[in-house]
Amino acid sequence: MSTKVTKSEALDYHKVPNPGKVAIATTTRLESQRDLSLAYSPGVAYPCEEIKDNPEAAYTYTSKRNLVAVISNGTAVLGLGDIGALASKPVMEGKAVLFKKFAAVDSFDIEVDEKDIDKFCETVKAISPTFGGINLEDIKSPECFEIERRLVDELNIPVMHDDQHGTAIITTAGLINASSMMNKKPEDMKVVVVGAGASAISCSNMYKELGVKNLIMCDSKGVIHKGRTDLNKYKKDFMIDDALTMNEAFTDADMVLGLSRPGTFTKEHISLMSERPIVFTLANPTPELFPEEVREVRPNAIIGTGRSDFPNQVNNVLGFPFIFRGALDVQTRKINMTMKMAAAYAIANLAKEPLYPELKVMFGDLSYGPEYIIPTPFDKRLMVEVSAAVANAAVETGVARVKEFDLEAYREKLSH
Ligand code: NAP
Ligand code: MG
Repeated sequence: MSTKVTKSEALDYHKVPNPGKVAIATTTRLESQRDLSLAYSPGVAYPCEEIKDNPEAAYTYTSKRNLVAVISNGTAVLGLGDIGALASKPVMEGKAVLFKKFAAVDSFDIEVDEKDIDKFCETVKAISPTFGGINLEDIKSPECFEIERRLVDELNIPVMHDDQHGTAIITTAGLINASSMMNKKPEDMKVVVVGAGASAISCSNMYKELGVKNLIMCDSKGVIHKGRTDLNKYKKDFMIDDALTMNEAFTDADMVLGLSRPGTFTKEHISLMSERPIVFTLANPTPELFPEEVREVRPNAIIGTGRSDFPNQVNNVLGFPFIFRGALDVQTRKINMTMKMAAAYAIANLAKEPLYPELKVMFGDLSYGPEYIIPTPFDKRLMVEVSAAVANAAVETGVARVKEFDLEAYREKLSH
């Protein structure tokens, strides 16, 4: 089925049968006067008192345990830029739909009309008691880094800016598999990252955690090096000593990760790279360079894009629903690097498993190899593999509230 949609199809989809994409469903019975007394006054006072005496009881008596806030201020929406809080609502509602459909996570989309970091954080903190987790979305860089850091530090529920870490987790999964296909270890690879914004900084941090040592980052002014005086503190973490040109950066590089915009590097740059490079061109919807252009100069490159019409789509929906599923189920306080890395390995390993018949009908005869290094979002095994890996890592690193955790029983529960 074609993935191309027209404007009128998309507008109708959002208008019919009801405006928007989400609604709230109730979960308890409300048929009688007695039910009313249980659901509302006077019965409702009992769970209120339980929670007042013990805040953790909110996980037992309210929807907090399965509820995520999808929060944006609309400053970096898709490729549309700063379109404002209200105009971002269709995207945030969409995220709520994906949470629900892929991982049975309930969520509210919350559009906050506030660009000031202090006021935005205050707002999110003030409403945080409602939720078991917070997915920050489409907030521009560099503000997104400070906003996320503060909320992670100050709240005791998991907070994740998906544009940063979702992307980092999926591309790390791709890097794990592609590097092993090339028989290269991350620590021996030369990696060029083109882009130094929300997603590029987070990906680069995760690659370092994976073992990459030789990483050269470029922004719109070129390679990030110690001689530059225009760098924010997030870019400064990636300064290299020498003022290399882009050509020098690409020479013999094993991987390029593009998270910038179309045309920021060319096939001439690719032709300077190692014989069989990894090339992720993730600018959306138009990649930095199209796969066929890469193949002209490096026919054996392992290529990924952000698009569904090419192999190896880096799609965040492979990650965030299942990461929050796992985090909610063990009631974590944080989503830490160990949990993110566990998610990346779970995604990478799933690509090695043969497709089951239903997936073969949808995607043909895909099997683990250069054209299939990342699973598809419709692989139902993602929930078991990624959520279980994340929950287990949370328990092992001591950030879970749930004390008794049986991994096999949890995997069994997720598979139904
Ligand atoms: P962002 O925060 O705005 O960052 C964009 C970065 O690109 C900036 O650091 C900018 O440099 C840099 N840039 C612009 N022109 C450049 C040039 N000529 N050479 C080198 N770097 C250049 O954006 P983002 O949220 O990270 O997203 C970046 C792109 O990746 C978008 O197209 C987005 O749609 C895509 N993306 C795709 C996925 C996916 O496929 N799953 C996930 C996340 C993002 P300055 O810092 O100098 O301005
Ligand atoms: Mg986003």
